Amino acid sequence: MTQFNELGLAAPILKALEGEGYTTPTPIQAQAIPAAIAGSDILGIAQTGTGKTAAFALPILHRLATKRTPTPRKGCRALILSPTRELASQIGQSFKTYGRHLGLTVGIVFGGIPHGPQIRTLAKGVDILIATPGRLLDHIADRKVQLSGTEILVLDEADQMLDAGFLRPIQRIISNLSARRQSLLFSATMPKEIAHLADNLLREPVKVSVTPTATTVDRIAQRIIFIEAKKKKALLVELFADEAMSHTLVFTRTKRGADRVARHLTACGIDTAAIHGNKSQRQREIALNAFREAKIRVLVATDIAARGIDVDGVSHVVNYEMPEVPEAYVHRIGRTARAGASGSAISLCDNEERDLLRSIERLIRQTIPTVDRRNDSTLTAEAKGAGRESRPRTNPHKSQRAAGANKAPGKTSRSYGEGKRRRPERKAEHAPDQHQRNDEAGGDQQKIAQAKPDFRAAPRKQPRPKARRPKPQDGTARPARKPNRNRTARPVSA
Ligand code: AMP
Repeated sequence: MTQFNELGLAAPILKALEGEGYTTPTPIQAQAIPAAIAGSDILGIAQTGTGKTAAFALPILHRLATKRTPTPRKGCRALILSPTRELASQIGQSFKTYGRHLGLTVGIVFGGIPHGPQIRTLAKGVDILIATPGRLLDHIADRKVQLSGTEILVLDEADQMLDAGFLRPIQRIISNLSARRQSLLFSATMPKEIAHLADNLLREPVKVSVTPTATTVDRIAQRIIFIEAKKKKALLVELFADEAMSHTLVFTRTKRGADRVARHLTACGIDTAAIHGNKSQRQREIALNAFREAKIRVLVATDIAARGIDVDGVSHVVNYEMPEVPEAYVHRIGRTARAGASGSAISLCDNEERDLLRSIERLIRQTIPTVDRRNDSTLTAEAKGAGRESRPRTNPHKSQRAAGANKAPGKTSRSYGEGKRRRPERKAEHAPDQHQRNDEAGGDQQKIAQAKPDFRAAPRKQPRPKARRPKPQDGTARPARKPNRNRTARPVSA
């Protein structure tokens, strides 16, 4: 079996890997690292948990360390785009860990926190920049970042980017990069939009793959329980009588639903926290750390907030509601059975969710074993109307567009003082639309949607902001914003 020291990586990187106790590259690393060091573009099909972060981080660190050049002012040498804040932080941490003996700088840029410190970080330039698309586009529009000197681009979790509505923003970001770059694209699944993006982005890519497209992890024991919607909470509590469910991730469709389920479990004496896009970054980190350190038994999450959650030892994943997008099922259940462990996935499916179940089974080409608990008198039904989340009846991608088209921008826009003002809740609660997804993913997309009418299908006439800056070259118009100087994030030496 190949060892790390056979892959041609620089000695300081091998030393850091040794410090981490890594000896053997994972399959995706063994395939991707030599090709990336040779300068090839890479198309990687891999889920989280396969070691894909190191598969791109190690060759990037190697290249930056062995071909030293000054960091471009306001720019970076390597840009990594991530769909979520959590994943961006984790990728940043991995670069710092693996590059700790190299003295390279790492900057992380995402929404939900003030712009000022990020702008100061970017002004000097960093070797490696990890960013969520929304906030990066903000900085591009403000001319605080200049990406033409970027040598390497990584798109991580490309299919999640698509789900979060980031396809257009990514295309806009890429249009700012030089064509002479090396590009790496990683995705757990390969829907046709991503295949198309890969065709445009990559030049003669080396294809590396560790799981066939959309194949569910084999080690996971899957089960569907048919149940009435109004009895789901009672059933969920009953499931937790099983002590084997020691470290469980519960997925809900909406943020409000996540809060309701978390409150209910807590009231029933089950230690639970919720994580979703309406929680502050700090709350998200506290909840995630409590779950990671097993201080709580259950973490209830919405899809997007859960992306990039890298927690080992998740014993069970429960789909409290079936995911709207079949690929999300693969992602959700992939949170268990990480790093060679086994795991269980239990999905509560009501009558209205049967079609969603069929789509999932078609995608994974498996029939999932079922248990029928309908008409079970031992389970108490919730009072009428309590906790029932309405579900969009249409294709979620279509409903995203429709939701965007139907919203008056003035009503959905948020303050430019990031995260200080609250946006209207109701619409996003009742449909996991573009607005909600982007809010959860990075917090900045509403602004983008407002600033770039072409982002949505049929925008209405927009009210003009009182003060406008001159339109930047990329066509993004944005009102002036006061920089916030409260934050202290700086580039950190890797
Ligand atoms: P990722 O798929 O990048 O999210 O990585 C999943 C987990 O595997 C992370 O906790 C990594 O620290 C760990 N990991 C990555 N590569 C290796 C390796 N070669 N040996 C042992 N652990 C690894």
